[in-house]
Amino acid sequence: MQPDQILKEIAQQVSECKRCPLHYSRKKAVPGEGPAQAEIMMIGEGPGFYENEQGRPFVGAAGKFLDELLEKCGIARKDVFITNVVKCRPPGNRDPQPEELEACNAYLERQIEAINPKVIVTLGRFSMAKFLPGVKISEVHGQSFWRNGRLIVPMFHPAAALHQPSLKASVERDFARLSEYVQSARQRLQAAEKPVAVEEKTGETPAKDQPTQLSLF
Ligand code: URA
Ligand code: SF4
Repeated sequence: MQPDQILKEIAQQVSECKRCPLHYSRKKAVPGEGPAQAEIMMIGEGPGFYENEQGRPFVGAAGKFLDELLEKCGIARKDVFITNVVKCRPPGNRDPQPEELEACNAYLERQIEAINPKVIVTLGRFSMAKFLPGVKISEVHGQSFWRNGRLIVPMFHPAAALHQPSLKASVERDFARLSEYVQSARQRLQAAEKPVAVEEKTGETPAKDQPTQLSLF
């Protein structure tokens, strides 16, 4: 199946999912959105009030701030795949519970596998903990970590940053480095592909030459 078809299938399954208690109170599940070939994936915490109404990620106040941050760093939102660690709104915007994170994780894993992003930006501590267990956001925000063939960049959650001036300045500085990180992930992945490309080429040459040689006889 093509990646965009896989994403559609996941979205369909999420919309009907009853794997954890969050399905009782949701209005609309929020599978996430963005292109299947996105180089950057951003992973937040969970839908809030407006996301639950609209079925789309980051459309409330935190979403507006995220839009601003992306615009300032020259990355178009339409080029980024944006999702959350839980796809249904925790009542009253409480933290997602371990059982809910566990139940919803398979959807996120399948999205990551289908998109195969070069860079994953974690927004807030729940998505950070999935990729960088045991670290403290205050110590690692805005840095990059190479994990399983991609760059993980932990950022403060825009909703938290929105209300704390010191965090706001931090998150703005961190986002300003994002294009640089994408560039370095591209280069590293390209370099990793090179030996394979040479091998494939060498393997192909005799096979291509053969029919020509045979036709001479
Ligand atoms: N906060 C999140 O973590 N995710 C959203 O989709 C919206 C707000
Ligand atoms: Fe299913 Fe995830 Fe929604 Fe829970 S949060 S009901 S696991 S889609």
